[in-house]
Amino acid sequence: MSDDLPLIADVALDVPGRDAYSYLVPPELADLAVGECVLVPFGPRRERGFVAAVGRRAPPDGVTLKAVLDRRAGVRLPPALMDLIRWAASYYRCSLGEFFAGVVPAPVREGTAIKRERMLRPVPGFAGTLTARQQEVLKLLPPDAIPFADARRRANCTGQTLERMVTAGALVLDENQDIQETRLDVKDERFALTDEQQAVVTTVAQALDEARHETYLLYGVTGSGKTLAYLELAEKVIASGKQVLVLLPEIGLTPQLAARFRRRFERVVVWHSGFTAGERAEQWRQVAQGEVDLVIGARSALFAPMPAPGLIVVDEEHDSSYKQDSTPRYQARDLAIVYARQLSVPVILGTATPSLESYQNARTGRYTVLTMRDRPAGGALPTPTVIDMGEECRRQKRHAVLSEELVEALRVVRDRKEQAIVLLNRRGWSPVVSCMGCGHAMKCPQCDVSLTYHKGQDLLRCHYCGHFVPLPRLCPACEQPDLSTKGVGTEQLTAQISELVPGLRLLRVDADTVGSRQGHARVLKAFSKGEADCMVGTQMVAKGLDFPRVTLVGVVAADHGLSIPDFRASERTYQLVAQVAGRAGRGERPGRVIVQAFDAEAPPIACALRGRPKTFYTAEIDLRSEYGYPPAGGLLRILWRGEDAARVQAVAEEHSQRLQAAAQGEVVLGPTPAGLAFLKGQHRWHALVKAASRGAAQQFLDRLLADGPLKAKRGVKVAVDVDPYAIS
Ligand code: ADP
Ligand code: ZN
Repeated sequence: MSDDLPLIADVALDVPGRDAYSYLVPPELADLAVGECVLVPFGPRRERGFVAAVGRRAPPDGVTLKAVLDRRAGVRLPPALMDLIRWAASYYRCSLGEFFAGVVPAPVREGTAIKRERMLRPVPGFAGTLTARQQEVLKLLPPDAIPFADARRRANCTGQTLERMVTAGALVLDENQDIQETRLDVKDERFALTDEQQAVVTTVAQALDEARHETYLLYGVTGSGKTLAYLELAEKVIASGKQVLVLLPEIGLTPQLAARFRRRFERVVVWHSGFTAGERAEQWRQVAQGEVDLVIGARSALFAPMPAPGLIVVDEEHDSSYKQDSTPRYQARDLAIVYARQLSVPVILGTATPSLESYQNARTGRYTVLTMRDRPAGGALPTPTVIDMGEECRRQKRHAVLSEELVEALRVVRDRKEQAIVLLNRRGWSPVVSCMGCGHAMKCPQCDVSLTYHKGQDLLRCHYCGHFVPLPRLCPACEQPDLSTKGVGTEQLTAQISELVPGLRLLRVDADTVGSRQGHARVLKAFSKGEADCMVGTQMVAKGLDFPRVTLVGVVAADHGLSIPDFRASERTYQLVAQVAGRAGRGERPGRVIVQAFDAEAPPIACALRGRPKTFYTAEIDLRSEYGYPPAGGLLRILWRGEDAARVQAVAEEHSQRLQAAAQGEVVLGPTPAGLAFLKGQHRWHALVKAASRGAAQQFLDRLLADGPLKAKRGVKVAVDVDPYAIS
């Protein structure tokens, strides 16, 4: 290699198609390295990108390369993460630059100035002396930490007053605390391990010692103490100087779990998008510098720039929120396994209700199964009661939403001052509003789905695009005052319970009442402090919660999800019912679970309730094989969308000829209008490709894309979804 040759960097930019573009490296950036973030000219603009390769070589003939303009100081992706992203971009068929843009937080790429937020919080139980004015100020401050500036505004006082109160010991000032976290106090969990926990720890620790990759499926019933096993293993990894990554589903990311990790470890970062831009940039820097031992977060935490991850935990591995449904459409659990293999470290997939994919991989010996059946703190799993709602309605001689048994059980909870959780996976007052006279149904003008009535706001809302209109007094079609609601959501259920069980303090938990993730955290905190007796909510209440005073769990319309046309409908219903059934009776008191359904004998419900996982999984895998769905094969989805229906159809049909031509035994279904054929003002067509395996699906894509990508054209966008979850 000659020094005469120019130094050239290949830079991955956030554009579809090509992975990288070449630029000259100016002498002042001669030490530029792979993984750094740079600024380059691109057409008329300047763009941020990541260096995918750099070296001396002859420039391509007849092209004048432009030069790299600048680098983002302090931002460099570790080599292991670069390897993972290369693999992922190729597997999920997006450009390297699109993948970087999707997983490196914008504040890091854009170099948002790191503003250290000074946080102020009251010292609980402070008993020193304060001036009258200071006491007044203290009363105006919330119990949680808030930014210094906010505190000044809220208490309408000077910074000096606050600083004096810090000196007096009534307030604490944290220079660098994450703002938005609602922190919880939790008990110390240094219990002696149960035999089952010890077996898990010993097995995984052996892989750690041997620096060997292995995928473990930790199949443990709810309450079996999986978290304690994670804590013990994390401690070993951290002691060896490496880092630990803990992934959780979006709604499992509760302050409760974060608190359990913080209780044991100092240098913990909770990774999510709720933080300010400056904080996210700062977190990224801390992790990259090795100042953090454990990162805990939802799927995007996989891309936290840890220098040397030693263990990855994917908790609730079956959860569908691990799949991202916009570009890059990756599955974080699957990528965690790839990452762990590249790093030669073990990965643990924890769950009480494995995904079909993981169950199958365990069955064929690809994963090592570790089982936990005992519940160290909670005694036996409750025996569920099933209520056949068809029969119940006949008995009550009306269309009942709540069974008498569930109402009675809620009254008992109220009288004994215990707690209950009631789940209904549908929000709002009513999912359908239609005219009794002419049959006209109220639909979203942009989505072709029914609008949900929200009584509190007296609005009809679209749950797909957010569109809303006031509830009309007359039917827009026949102009008669005959509009009526059909079906029940959490809002109406809460109202019914409140009427039937007076005195029970209710807390509704769904996207409407909770808003942000922090709202969710606050609601859970209130419930754990006993500020309400019963939570009524969507699946938000179903997961990862550990409330010792909950003695009753009710599920309303457990079979609701089964009517959704999706090959995972059965699996999701099974998981939901089985998870919920494990929620009650975690403390000393025995729990009750009451499940209401019209079709209580449907296999996913019956198997979940009777504790027959094997029956469910075996039958479901057979069904999937019969129809060629994962895990029995590889699945791809191509989605076309645009505002002009005819153009969408034309491009879908044109591209589908390429799909057909690339098929060698793969089954191409479509193109057809998608289940949600009109969404957010866009017409949607799709095609599904069933291949014999994931590998075969990749080979199909290689053939399909050999002559270039499926290009967007005439206002029609195309997306390729590898291992899709959303198929409607
Ligand atoms: P999982 O994550 O498997 O649902 P958790 O880790 O939440 O279960 O544990 C359930 C409860 O059991 C928690 O309250 C936890 O503190 C407690 N626990 C776990 N392991 C032990 C143990 N070895 N001894 C006593 N209590 C334990
Ligand atoms: Zn809509």
